[in-house]
Amino acid sequence: MTFEYAPAPESRSIVDIRSSYGLFINGSFVDGGDEPLKSVNPATEEILADVAVAGPADVDAAVGAARRAFESGWGGLPGRERAKYLFRIARIVQERSRELAVLESIDNGKPIRESRDVDIPLVAAHFFYYAGWADKLRHAGFGSDPRPLGVAGQVIPWNFPLLMLAWKIAPALACGNTVVLKPAETTPLTALLFAEICQQAELPPGVVNIITGAGETGRLLVEHPDVDKVAFTGSTEVGRAIARSVAGTRKSVTLELGGKAANIVFDDAPVDQAVEGIVNGIFFNQGHVCCAGSRLLVQESIAEELLDALKRRMARLRVGDPLDKNTDIGAINSSAQLARIRELTDAGADEGAERWSPPCELPDRGFWFAPTIFTGVSQAHRIAREEIFGPVLSVLTFRTPDEAVEKANNTPYGLSAGVWTEKGSRILSIADKLRAGVVWANTFNKFDPASPFGGYKESGYGREGGRHGLEAYLVH
Ligand code: NAD
Ligand code: MN
Repeated sequence: MTFEYAPAPESRSIVDIRSSYGLFINGSFVDGGDEPLKSVNPATEEILADVAVAGPADVDAAVGAARRAFESGWGGLPGRERAKYLFRIARIVQERSRELAVLESIDNGKPIRESRDVDIPLVAAHFFYYAGWADKLRHAGFGSDPRPLGVAGQVIPWNFPLLMLAWKIAPALACGNTVVLKPAETTPLTALLFAEICQQAELPPGVVNIITGAGETGRLLVEHPDVDKVAFTGSTEVGRAIARSVAGTRKSVTLELGGKAANIVFDDAPVDQAVEGIVNGIFFNQGHVCCAGSRLLVQESIAEELLDALKRRMARLRVGDPLDKNTDIGAINSSAQLARIRELTDAGADEGAERWSPPCELPDRGFWFAPTIFTGVSQAHRIAREEIFGPVLSVLTFRTPDEAVEKANNTPYGLSAGVWTEKGSRILSIADKLRAGVVWANTFNKFDPASPFGGYKESGYGREGGRHGLEAYLVH
């Protein structure tokens, strides 16, 4: 007999979503822009709020506020004083974690289990971690008197809205910079709640400014002449445009772009554990993860056994209401992203790969995609080369360790990789040969604020997190 799950919905009464939001400039919410955009709940298509779209004058006002805050105090404040604000923000994030988690799941579509247990705890951890660095910068290995760069213009994507905000804002403030941050157009609400948290923490006005809008607002911010530092996470295509636009200026840049990570499973790997890691690698956050393990490379001798176990496991994944605590896979973030996933998976089937999904009932409204694997994939297939950014795994096989490395590195990207084997020496030798910024061994998608993260090749440049993450926000 099988047991059915009873619904276990998280209450949304803890969040108070306003019908419209202005821009957070110089410590207060101001009206701005003309035609607002609407953020929707991707699980229901319900319109959540009107959100202002910052135009040229608004971007200028935000950058001006950040400049004044930098010049008039924040940039010269002793590190231990800046640390107090960062610690305060970290503690408020913890205190309001349920509210933040529920709002993140509503605006983004990710399961509450993930926003509650992964995103928000990591947000707090990032602020705590960089708070600890603020008064120790002279001992960080960047010279005896490291100085902040000035005003940082930061643009983030929709897959980990508040976590990407934390990755950007925490190190910037710890180093004495001020920021103007633009969240993604489909997920602005937790960044706006974070603006309230800045008010609650009594952060001096102008140190953090949050401006909303779509790509054009991002472009205006990145191209603003008074921005000293640009930090971007998102698609490689936009990353390229940003690199072009700042070339020849004095701005410094970090880019965190796409990925097509290989998750390599050797024949001596513990199969059940590897299956959990594969599932976590590609179905975590609906596969909307730049470092997702989207290419499974499995040693030929165990391919059949492993794929059988993987399919059995996939049949148990629960797709549906993001606010249900039993949900494993939530909604696809937007109709545009769903269309991209469909286009690429159709291309995979057309090119001859074999597609499989477990039987699974999808809700009528909202944006959904069943967990999917493709077998019989060749390296030339689009689904083996392009980032799908959805719950779709491409499976390839290999015979020898050298072949595994060659296939793993055969990609324009180089963000992350995984290795599964019982043999410690093999982990070290393979990790050494993989051209990827992060290599996980017998685990996947593990994040820690102390650990640097970033890419090779078309996955971008610069590192975020850890001591390395300070470098991007200091003159040296
Ligand atoms: P995107 O790169 O277009 O958007 C990311 C952010 O950049 C958003 O805030 C957006 O408003 C802003 N932006 C867009 N154009 C800009 C410009 N010219 N100048 C400055 N900012 C600009 O990403 P998307 O359209 O949401 O997703 C497209 C694809 O990108 C996805 O399918 C996925 O493959 C990839 N992606 C990767 C990541 C990642 O974490 N590496 C995140 C999101 C998307
Ligand atoms: Mn939304």
